[in-house]
Amino acid sequence: MSLPLVFEAPKRAFPPRHLADMTADERREAVVGLGEKAFRAEQLSRGYFAGKTLADMTELSAASRERLAQVLPPLWTRVRDVSCDDGATVKSLWRAHDSTLVESVTMRYKDRTTVCISSQAGCGMACPFCATGQGGLTRNLSTAEIVDQVVRANADELARGERGVSNVVFMGMGEPLANYNRVIAAVRRMVEPSPAGLGMSQRNIVVSTVGVVPAIQKLTEEGLQVTLALSLHAPDDELRDTLVPVNTRWPVREVLRTAMDYTRKTGRRLSIEYALIKDVNDQPWRADMLAKKLKGKLVHVNLIPLNPTPGSEWDASPKEAEREFVKRLRDGGVNATVRDTRGREIAGACGQLAALEEPVPFA
Ligand code: SAH
Repeated sequence: MSLPLVFEAPKRAFPPRHLADMTADERREAVVGLGEKAFRAEQLSRGYFAGKTLADMTELSAASRERLAQVLPPLWTRVRDVSCDDGATVKSLWRAHDSTLVESVTMRYKDRTTVCISSQAGCGMACPFCATGQGGLTRNLSTAEIVDQVVRANADELARGERGVSNVVFMGMGEPLANYNRVIAAVRRMVEPSPAGLGMSQRNIVVSTVGVVPAIQKLTEEGLQVTLALSLHAPDDELRDTLVPVNTRWPVREVLRTAMDYTRKTGRRLSIEYALIKDVNDQPWRADMLAKKLKGKLVHVNLIPLNPTPGSEWDASPKEAEREFVKRLRDGGVNATVRDTRGREIAGACGQLAALEEPVPFA
């Protein structure tokens, strides 16, 4: 698959290879290359995925730890945590070795703990209602930089005396399918059992996309069972061209067909994201049109009340319009719910992640 140039991030130096960038075989090779016994690779991996730092791995001698530090270069420095919902929602701002900033958001629910992670610093998709899209793309994250957000969130939760992370959603900063290889490698790390990976369930991982058709086709062939979420936001090309600019390249009909092929192959229900924007995409006729296009398909529509972003003139739909939209979808035979959107007070909700060092308050 060759993606058009617009999806290629500017080239930057990545940190030295971290063990989370490597397969289990590569880790053994690297460790032997550092003059250590091969089994140390497993010890190190087990410690890393359990959230330990090298200094915590007291089963290793000081001399070994010093040598092995080469495959555990520091990835993210925590800049700040902010929380709301009585601490059940925590947004973390992280800084990379090259000063790149990203955010991740951990959300604790009754039955699960979900971390929403970033796949790129910034985003090149330019959706006008999304703060990340408005800031443009800085660079792709490495596999280890992606995985480490989950490792750190999990360790943070355990340190707070909470359950570990059970679910991961690629709904933070960036377009995951525009950083395809690293995102897929990160998913594989997350699902590989310990010590090779985090041992998570594939079904607890959601990859969300604006609809990069060739990458969805590739994903369909990976043999993975992750849930695919499609950010649709409009049932018609005329409007979607303006809300999700890649639509001009891969229009509604094509992206829906490709996403349904993924669903057919995996048996996983497709999630459709639809941010309800007052007088823009919330008309009853658009609900009917959406229902008509989705009826009888294995899909679930998540309606998201539009979250405010700096400088945006758009508002969330009024509650009555929202109710009517849901009703028309259901009457039309489509599963739909309004998403309980978390983190709005801390600019941590869908579309609000801007990774600003100095937080800018907005209404
Ligand atoms: N680039 C991927 C991953 C980001 S997921 C994608 O677009 O799917 C973030 C989700 O929040 C997407 O569905 C996005 O369209 C949605 N979103 C963006 N801005 C929003 C806003 N202001 N209010 C509500 N949802 C928003």
